[in-house]
This record gives sequence, C-alpha cells and structure tokens, in this order.
Amino acid sequence: MGHWMAPGHLPFAGAAVVVDAFLVRHPSGPVLLDTGIGVGMPEVEAMYKPVRWPLDEVLRDAGVSVGEIRVVANCHMHFDHSGNNFRFPRVPILAQKVEREAVATPNYTLPGPVAEFDGARFELLEGEADIVPGVRIVPTPGHTAGHQALVVETAGGPVLLAGQAFTTASEFGFAAFSHRLATDGLDTIGESPAWMARIAKLDPIRTYFAHDLLVHERDATTLGIPQRL
Ligand SMILES: [Zn+2]
Repeated sequence: MGHWMAPGHLPFAGAAVVVDAFLVRHPSGPVLLDTGIGVGMPEVEAMYKPVRWPLDEVLRDAGVSVGEIRVVANCHMHFDHSGNNFRFPRVPILAQKVEREAVATPNYTLPGPVAEFDGARFELLEGEADIVPGVRIVPTPGHTAGHQALVVETAGGPVLLAGQAFTTASEFGFAAFSHRLATDGLDTIGESPAWMARIAKLDPIRTYFAHDLLVHERDATTLGIPQRL
C-alpha cells in the first residue's frame, strides 16, 4: 500500500518502512486484510512522510475492484493499516472490540476514515472467529491491545498473515524459536508472547508481515540449507 519514513524515535530511523495489505482469494469472494495509509493527519504527514499507492490501483493490479471485496479485517486500527476503511461502506469490517474502542482515544488513529464514516459496518470480536471457512482471525495483542492476525488454510498448509504482531520476520522467528525451545523444556533467554502457543498449534508453514517484505518459512532449514551446518 506504500511506505513511510521511520522517524528518529523508531527503530530503523530514516529508513523507508513498507506497508502491506493482503488479499485472500476465497471461493465466497475476496477477503482483504488492511486497507492502506490514511489521509488527514498533518502531524503524521510531517513525521512519517507517507507515500501511498492508490487503493483502486493496487486492487486492480491484483485483479479485483473495491466493490468486489466481500469482507475486510484490520490487523489493528492505526492510520497505516486502516486508513481506507471508509472506502468499504456496508462491507463487514472485522476487528477486536477492544481495538474498535481504542479508536476514540486521543492520538490513536484517524477516527473518521477508519471507523466513523457513513455506512461503517463493524463486526466486533472478543477472541477468535472464522471470517469465512478456512480464514480464521486469531488475537495477537502486543503492538496494540486489539491486534489480530489471520490464519488462511491453503493447499500447501496454513499461512499466517501476522500484520504488525511483530515488525520484522526476524523478530517473529526469534520469538517462535524461543517458544519452541521453552516447549521442549530447553533454556531460552528469548521471550515470546502468550499467543505464540496458539500460533504454534496452528503451525503456519509461512508467515507474512505488514511492515516487512521478508517471509518467515517454517521449514526453511529443510529447503536446501545443508543439514551439517
Ligand atoms: Zn503499522
């Protein structure tokens, strides 16, 4: 959906940080995770210098139109993930209840385009839910209290769309590995969030992120890295 420039107080200060959204092609209609970077906060423009790819073009390149999207989910409701929600009036938008409630708190997001627009139709969740068969929302709190991820069943196995549960694939990989070591009763100085146990049970073969183009592969070590290493 574009990128923004990391300001001085964030990791990767000065770097361009990608902003991804994800389209799931489902037999019952397209499902969209996240809607792109919002417009309308002068402080955000000054601090993050966002560069936006137009939603209509991005979806057209993916072979669908805005009007064809059957259901939307937001990983969380910060301006860079939910900024084009207003383009989906009367389309169900699935979010955790606690995340929707946070929208009204100061400096959290862009309330108008994200949640308070004509035709807004939120379906608020308190925990896991199946959006459509094979596409499951799983709460992954941390970055925000109501952060959620999608687990999508594919022909090759479950795929996790992690949003900003972790900023980078590496951070996720360290936490997932720490969880595995702890589960095996081995010492680890790493930490992993409580929800990692649920993710480990769902056992995604591949994990994608909102702010990292790198992909975490569960079986990377069996895909050509010599075992002797
Ligand atoms: Zn973000």
